Amino acid sequence: MCKDRWTFCFLAKARLILLDHAEQSVGKHTGIGSVLRYKHVTRPNTRRVLSNAGQTCYNSDMSAIPISSQPHTHPTSGKTDLLGLSLAQLQAWLVERGEAGFRAKQIYSWLFEHLATDFAQMSNLPKALRERLAVEACIGSPVVRSEQHSKDDRTRKILLELADGKLIESVLMLYPPLGESSERATVCVSSQAGCAYGCTFCATGQMGFDRHLSAGEIVMQVLHFARELRSEPWAARGLPGSKPIDHITNIVLMGMGEPLHNYDNVLQALRILNSPDGFRLGARHMTVSTVGLVPAIRRLSQEQLQVNLAISLHAPTDELRSRTMPVNHKYPIKDLLAACQDYISATRRQVTFEYVLLAGVNDTPEYAHLLGDLLAPLHQFAHVNCIPVNATSAGYRPPGGDAIRAFRAILSEHGISNTVRAERGDDIAAACGQLRTRFENRRKALPVQTG
Ligand code: SAH
Ligand code: SF4
Repeated sequence: MCKDRWTFCFLAKARLILLDHAEQSVGKHTGIGSVLRYKHVTRPNTRRVLSNAGQTCYNSDMSAIPISSQPHTHPTSGKTDLLGLSLAQLQAWLVERGEAGFRAKQIYSWLFEHLATDFAQMSNLPKALRERLAVEACIGSPVVRSEQHSKDDRTRKILLELADGKLIESVLMLYPPLGESSERATVCVSSQAGCAYGCTFCATGQMGFDRHLSAGEIVMQVLHFARELRSEPWAARGLPGSKPIDHITNIVLMGMGEPLHNYDNVLQALRILNSPDGFRLGARHMTVSTVGLVPAIRRLSQEQLQVNLAISLHAPTDELRSRTMPVNHKYPIKDLLAACQDYISATRRQVTFEYVLLAGVNDTPEYAHLLGDLLAPLHQFAHVNCIPVNATSAGYRPPGGDAIRAFRAILSEHGISNTVRAERGDDIAAACGQLRTRFENRRKALPVQTG
């Protein structure tokens, strides 16, 4: 078989067709290294988008594995990644090198407003500085190893290879205006390569932990999609009145990894993206999702950053939670809820509790009542986002519509506001981690190519 062509894979819900480079055109990419892209075709949508809270990357089944066997080199080793520096740090970095500190603002504007990818574009910098930057610095440098677009182009998922060969996933989710809420472009960002917490339903958790991502590697994921939208704004098909979106409106730390395990780099990245001198993404448009690291939740409550907090709860009793989430042995529900209560007192902000619905495991009316009782003391500060599980190799199944409705009705009886995860009929974005898992399995299975 021709080695740099395509792989086909069909799963129950999603059908992906890999296309030849010459005939496909499914958007932009970073353009470094070899990129295989393919189109994703799904069955028609049967469920509505119900939620505009608690967006998540974990959507529906996913499927194909484009394999690039061509070697590539990362040109950036040893260079300073400017995407990971705050404005003050960039200023200090320049001054240390005998350059004028005021250049920092100009460079920041090129990086985060103009979304420049090359120092040569920075036309208001002296040529000598541009050349020096090209030698000593870089502007992120991931290789896009694969890219999937849903048929209606509302979901785009990329597998990025970092400078040391680690693979991470990022997803762009595009939402047309719905009712009162305006159109959105949300990036689901990874914070680590792999994850140390081993939740049994999570594809990333089954990989184990590789390493933390740097702040620059976190920021770079957002800029990748920001550039894409800038050069090709998105408008929902079939909605003539809808305004094209040309910028990122939200980010959710719901990709691979546990953001609060990589606390400093994640906070640095959020501050960079929030900077009024740069990307200017409002903190209220950022959501940090955590498995429930109690000390880090308390620390976050003191940060004076208006980010949204989502807690992966997934069970209302310790016995059940410990079965699926090993972290519960260390931070049991009582301690977790106490930290949430303190977070609410310090910030006066609502907390979203994510609840992955696992059929026959945690989705019974009894568990719904227990969850209602557990969260009722938080009053309007608790919101539950129900997430029908994406099937992974672990064998969990999502409940049917009736069971989900019954579960939610019980929560409402307890006065708990709740939504169900936005399900997109043409969705390609399965649980983050699955694309990488399949990519790696496939790579292992491929015979070594010669010539
Ligand atoms: N580590 C963080 C953030 C990444 S996971 C956390 O656990 O919160 C983002 C969300 O996706 C979490 O709520 C997580 O429990 C959920 N998730 C993981 N695997 C899933 C799956 N197979 N189906 C649906 N949701 C999943
Ligand atoms: Fe890690 Fe979150 Fe997956 Fe649990 S759900 S294994 S914490 S990424």
